[in-house]
Amino acid sequence: MSETLTVAARLGTNRFASDKQSHLTISDPNLCRTCTLQPCIAVCPAQVYHWDGDQIRISYENCLEVGACRIACHELGRQALAWRLPRGAHGVLYRQG
Ligand code: SF4
Repeated sequence: MSETLTVAARLGTNRFASDKQSHLTISDPNLCRTCTLQPCIAVCPAQVYHWDGDQIRISYENCLEVGACRIACHELGRQALAWRLPRGAHGVLYRQG
């Protein structure tokens, strides 16, 4: 009989092959400073985005490649976020689907 894992436990089984360069970039930090809602912070399930003093910080190494941040930024934010998939052989490796 298989054990049912919580979402947090399932996410904890993921593995990451981090690249040296971020696949998530900000075109202009000033756009983020004037972004009222900062929806990237709210929608990311991996908490990749956080506000640090006067700029947005991106912990791209933890990215789950969901893409919700791109949609949120472009629909509700200031369209500052450039989102790409990580380069080949980098990024998240899901173990539990
Ligand atoms: S939603 Fe876009 S513009 Fe707003 S803080 Fe996040 S990355 Fe910057």
